[in-house]
Amino acid sequence: MTAETPNPASAQLPIGEVYLVGAGPGDPELLTLKALRLLKQADVVVYDRLVGADILELLEPGTQRIFVGKEPDRHTLPQDDINQLLVELARQGLRVLRLKGGDPFIFGRGGEEIETLMAAGVPFQVVPGVTAAAGCAAYAGIPLTHRDYAQACVLITGHLKDGTLDLNWPMLVQPRQTVVFYMGLKSVRHICAKLREHGMAPDMPAALVERGTTPQQQVYVSTIAQLPDRLTSAVRSPALLIVGEVVKLHPQLDWFRPAAS
Ligand code: SAH
Repeated sequence: MTAETPNPASAQLPIGEVYLVGAGPGDPELLTLKALRLLKQADVVVYDRLVGADILELLEPGTQRIFVGKEPDRHTLPQDDINQLLVELARQGLRVLRLKGGDPFIFGRGGEEIETLMAAGVPFQVVPGVTAAAGCAAYAGIPLTHRDYAQACVLITGHLKDGTLDLNWPMLVQPRQTVVFYMGLKSVRHICAKLREHGMAPDMPAALVERGTTPQQQVYVSTIAQLPDRLTSAVRSPALLIVGEVVKLHPQLDWFRPAAS
């Protein structure tokens, strides 16, 4: 059989489709209309830890659910296996909803997943979501840019590799910008120390937003000098670190009243 000749068995099955969908940072009402429509028509959902229970409640009752984890330090299913799983489910003729927290292309490995789908000839769509930086900043009353304080915003990973972070620190300490660290909860102390080492003022405002946009949202506002000592071990993932003058606006612009507070 040549590569051009379809396998007669699989030729019988209509090929399914994969929807790579961003579910936003937590609040189900931050789903896009497109995300909601695809969520309703999926046969099976493949989802991560960051997708909240109240979003999964929007699925139709018969939708098969597959949890693929992604704990901070423990990938329940390796990325290659997830990529392969999506291909296999689509080859069974299913409409597969690949649901991810935030936006699939911002620290979401969505690019790797669709590379595999593309190579396997599986049709797919990508639906952007509200990324954690946008969601947390909005719900914490911290504008990421502001005419007076920040003309740029950098989204960057704070995930430690071998106990360190290989980032462009001189770029991160530049004035008039906001720097948002994803996956940085465990490295807050390291990040703040590195920023100071590279010349950022110790009184630069910094905020940690825990479980942003959800009823459990907590915002800890401090400075890069003091934030590490002000965080207790009770702070839980997911959490986002926002560093920059814009954090000063939080007391004035804070509007969201989480149910849990
Ligand atoms: N694709 C996602 C990011 C995945 S990386 C997005 O676009 O938002 C996971 C990191 O995102 C977490 O470690 C945390 O830093 C951040 N994050 C996601 N949801 C969050 C939330 N509700 N509150 C605070 N941080 C969040």
